[in-house]
Order: sequence, then structure tokens, then C-alpha cells
Amino acid sequence: MVQPLIQVRSLDVRYGAVQAVDGINFEVEQGEIVALLGANGAGKSSTLNAIAGLVPTFGGEVHFDGQNITNLRPEMLPGLGMTLSPEGRRVFGTLSVAENLQMGAFGMKDAQEISAAWDRVYTLFPILAERRDQFAGTLSGGQQQMLAVGRALMSNPKMLLLDEPSLGLAPKIIEQIFELITTLNEQGVTILVVEQNVSMALEVANRAYVLANGQIATSGDAKELAASNNLQNAYLGGA
Ligand code: ATP
Repeated sequence: MVQPLIQVRSLDVRYGAVQAVDGINFEVEQGEIVALLGANGAGKSSTLNAIAGLVPTFGGEVHFDGQNITNLRPEMLPGLGMTLSPEGRRVFGTLSVAENLQMGAFGMKDAQEISAAWDRVYTLFPILAERRDQFAGTLSGGQQQMLAVGRALMSNPKMLLLDEPSLGLAPKIIEQIFELITTLNEQGVTILVVEQNVSMALEVANRAYVLANGQIATSGDAKELAASNNLQNAYLGGA
């Protein structure tokens, strides 16, 4: 059997006495888009951040592409083929667009590969090419989100972790962001996306896991979950 690209086993994340993630198991197969859904405080970001090495795990294991990456330092992951695109406001506002992107290429040595990465990102996001010398802080919310994704793409990852890519954006821009997720997936990038925009996430995802109180409350095929009437009321804080 083919190994999943990412495999999370019995993952626990605690902040002092707060158990944010409570023994969850899930996997993402190569080529999938998987959504991690749940109400505020359900443990979505903690899960993503634990996978990315940004918060320590209290227990459990994360395997990526056949390697145990549990608690690996975050800067090790791009070299292994995985990057995290944080929520868009977390770009470096006082650095230029190009300088932000450059950071995504940190550690890459092959000049041809780096040049191909610039081409790819500027082709996907022509607005970033136009504004390459501008401070990132002067970009609109949607453009900052594109920059966050662009930076994560500079190392040509196999797997992209996306934290709330639609947060705070206008509906038209949200549509563009979800189209982008589909495009990247068609280009071969496996995607794990944390979202509060449940309907859009279920539209683009193959499967989803719904977290509640740090545990997986339900999971399944995205279309089936979208069709289940009580999803919103039961797990996502009402509708
Ligand atoms: P949101 O969409 O609101 O970010 P979430 O599903 O991503 O929610 P988490 O941010 O992972 O949930 O939070 C899970 C639990 O852990 C919550 O009870 C939250 O208050 C708590 N928590 C998150 N970060 C910290 C922290 N740095 N210190 C203490 N508690 C935290």
C-alpha cells in the first residue's frame, strides 16, 4: 500500500493546563486537498502549528514522506518538501514583496531552481511582480495573502499547509484564493488547509476532518459532509 504523504498519530498539544489537541489521528494522501474544520478554539491552528514545528507536541507523532518529523525545527521542513503559509497578515510589512519572497527561498542553493521559483510565483501572482519593490505592509489583505502563499511556494513544496487563507478577505478575493488552491493542487501540490469558511473549503477539498474540543468529531468525503445538514449546528458553532 502507498504510504500517506502525511500521517498524524495520537497528536497531543498542550499549553500549560489547556489541552488544545487531544490524541488526534489523520492522514493526507499525495495529491489530495484535505480541509481541517472546526469552531473557534477547536484546535485547528494548534494542529497545523504542531505539524510545522511551531509549537511542541506533548505526545504523538507526525510522519511526512516516510520520515518522522515530530518536533523537527520549522526551518528544516522546506528542505524536506513541506511549507506553511500563515494567515496573510503575518507577512513582514516593512520588507518589500521581493524580500518576503526571498525568505521563502532560504536555504535553496541551486540557482536554476531559485530562478524557476521566482518565475512560478510571479506567473501565478502577476500583482506581486508589479509590486515587488513595495513594502508588503502597503498591499491589500488579499495581496498579502497571495504573498504569504507565494513565499511558501518558493521552495517548491510537495505539501502546503494553509492557515485560514480566506480570513478577513472580501468574497471575490476569497473565490480567487480557493481557485488558487485548486490550481496548485492540479500542479501537483498536496494541500492541508485550515478554514473557517466551511462551504468554500468543502467545495475544493477531497476530504475533511472536523475538530471539536481538540478531537476529531467527524470526518469524510467533502461532498458528503457538505450535504449533511447538521454539520454547522453540531460542530461549527451554529449557523
Ligand atoms: P481559531 O480558529 O480561533 O484559531 P483553532 O481551532 O485554530 O481556533 P487553536 O487556536 O488551536 O484553535 O486553540 C485551541 C485551544 O488552545 C483553545 O482553547 C485556545 O484558547 C488554546 N490556545 C491556543 N493557543 C494558545 C496559547 N498560545 N496559549 C494558551 N492557550 C492557547
